[in-house]
Amino acid sequence: MNAPQKLQHDVRLTSISKLASRPLMEIVRTVSWMKQIGRAARQEDRVLGFVPTMGALHKGHASLVEAARARCAPVVVSIFVNPKQFGPSEDFQRYPRTLESDRPLLENLRVDYLFAPPAEEIYPKGFRTAVNVDGLSPRLEGKSRPGHFAGVATVVLKLFEIVQPRFAYFGRKDAQQCRIVQQMAADLNLDTAIVACPTVREPDGLALSSRNAYLSADDRRAATALSRALHAIRQEITKGERDAAHLIVAARHVLDSEAGVKTDYVEIVDADSLETVTLLRGRSLALIAAYAGKTRLIDNALIEQEADTFRVTI
Ligand code: AMP
Repeated sequence: MNAPQKLQHDVRLTSISKLASRPLMEIVRTVSWMKQIGRAARQEDRVLGFVPTMGALHKGHASLVEAARARCAPVVVSIFVNPKQFGPSEDFQRYPRTLESDRPLLENLRVDYLFAPPAEEIYPKGFRTAVNVDGLSPRLEGKSRPGHFAGVATVVLKLFEIVQPRFAYFGRKDAQQCRIVQQMAADLNLDTAIVACPTVREPDGLALSSRNAYLSADDRRAATALSRALHAIRQEITKGERDAAHLIVAARHVLDSEAGVKTDYVEIVDADSLETVTLLRGRSLALIAAYAGKTRLIDNALIEQEADTFRVTI
């Protein structure tokens, strides 16, 4: 742990000494410049930490940056609304783009580089390649959003190649995405370790999401049904229930009782294979996707066996 701390210290000194001429956080717009920074960091044996985002930043994103900051220097955050992970009838055009307010937030978090490329830097004319993580992608979110994970895996692999991170930070809020990125990194022998971070929630349980900005006051109230459904699952597990079908019924009961919510899926799957489980065993995920009004939200709980009991992390 000594080396990264010393490096972090050096970064601050450099920044302070150049305060008059250089802002604390540098904004990088081109792939070629970002590549130079990433490769220089690797050559100098610095531990570069990376947080990929689509912007419209909230405390969930901030928690990933803080986790990166604790272990790495420099820290790079990307903001890129990736067109390839949106379906044709999804919210790509409407997705909140708030770079002006994201920027000071990242400066306050002492991020070293913000990589915010225009779309044509990432997908120049003639771009053809897609990355597919077999088996894990067509389920759950991939079933409801065909092509979504090919878009995610493609952009994440590109960003890793450009930024060259030692550690990359992802939120457990997007559990399937986390699992797919981990699998891709292992399968392709990437020199990037994937760090999965806990879900940050509002005081009433709603998982923070950039899409929460779409919610009307009524939708916002109804949206707590997702985390309440996960709590219902936890309660049943605490009472001794191990049957996945029964747990799903308990969660659906909460979701169905909320008039403003329309459920897409509630599933309990093995945390590794993402295959459906019938009886709880080892590590599982309870995953929910539901609409609050017209806004599609996802949430999940991690269920871990500890001898005869199960720990449920929401
Ligand atoms: P996004 O900007 O939605 O693509 O998210 C960027 C990263 O932030 C992803 O790794 C997400 O899983 C993570 N993230 C989003 N919401 C949360 C949250 N509420 N808590 C923790 N991480 C989150």
